[in-house]
Amino acid sequence: MSPLPAAIVDALRTVLGDGPAPLHEPRFQGNEQRYVQDCIASTFVSSVGAYVDRFEQQLADYTGARRAVAVVNGTAALQVALRLAGVQSGDEVLIPALSFVATANAVHYLGAVPHFADSAEATLGLDPAPLRDWLKGIAEPAGGGYRHRHTGRRLSALVPMHTFGHPCDLDGLLSLAHDYRLTLVEDAAESLGSRYHGRHTGTFGRLGILSFNGNKTITTGGGGAILTDDERLADHAKHLTTTAKRQHRWEYVHDEIGYNFRMPNLNAALGCAQLEQLPDFLASKRRLTVRYLDAFARLESVRLIQEPPGCESNYWLQTLILDEAVADQRDAVLTVTNDAGLMTRPAWTLMHRLAPYRDCPRAPLPVAESLVRRIINLPSSAGLA
Ligand SMILES: *Cc1c(COP(=O)(O)O)cnc(C)c1O
Repeated sequence: MSPLPAAIVDALRTVLGDGPAPLHEPRFQGNEQRYVQDCIASTFVSSVGAYVDRFEQQLADYTGARRAVAVVNGTAALQVALRLAGVQSGDEVLIPALSFVATANAVHYLGAVPHFADSAEATLGLDPAPLRDWLKGIAEPAGGGYRHRHTGRRLSALVPMHTFGHPCDLDGLLSLAHDYRLTLVEDAAESLGSRYHGRHTGTFGRLGILSFNGNKTITTGGGGAILTDDERLADHAKHLTTTAKRQHRWEYVHDEIGYNFRMPNLNAALGCAQLEQLPDFLASKRRLTVRYLDAFARLESVRLIQEPPGCESNYWLQTLILDEAVADQRDAVLTVTNDAGLMTRPAWTLMHRLAPYRDCPRAPLPVAESLVRRIINLPSSAGLA
């Protein structure tokens, strides 16, 4: 029998053919050129324009959120969403240790402290059961909510993230958020097109956010959006992200300290064209999953992650999990596949292992610690199948 790394390359080749394959590349086969050229011709390439309004409306229609506010990237969207959720300087915010650094950074930008929690093996997202046990031990009532008894800091928000597009256990997390008076804000940066019990991710919390970075399911070059059903919060999000300037024909009156986080019209033009193709992208990614499942079915020590029961995943990044017994071969697999031009990569470094966040509070993280040694992301672009 061939060693595991070679067997994985063979399996990938049966799906991807002989050529190289990037991890995730954007696809521009719709109205991108037309809309971007039209945007340039209009001269409204920057801070205001019809494409921004249209993109926001398209996003709201697609996700079912009452409102969407387009911003400059997903990180800025999360920073503003957390602020609007009431996160204050000196608070602690519960986030998964297994996430992209933007989740922790957005918390830090508000002067708050990330508090890391463990993931579930089945969803790769926050696991409500051990988090409930943890909070039972460390949370004490204070001021109508809860505080961390060892740090004295208020526990103000809970930020689930839908890892690689797979919805996490939102029912369990909503119930936990309710019991501990935590405001739920969803980091749905990776899960545009993913649904939990039929409803779009990013619409369960008080606010949610999306990312349209170049490697996400659709791209605006760089971009993000805040989703919410609360009209007042949406208006405030728009205001804060556009320098908090009062509407007036010539006066510059800013009634609070806002941000220049608006999405340029040029980027929104790209987004409108991309969103039109999202159903095709999702169908293609689903076909790719079927083909990977078939290709890896013969390998006993690896498993392709599938959408959790009751969920529809966008399969943003296809994910192979090595069994614990072969976890020590992960780096060999990464080397051999990348040498073959098939771009694969491991999960992110866990947040508490990053120098800037190593002193932050954290729950026990046995599952995240194990997952991070076993995850391998595979070439996942729409259009591969
Ligand atoms: C991509 C991403 C973001 C936001 O990224 P931007 O590049 O700022 O758009 C936030 N959280 C997670 C988990 C992400 O994957």
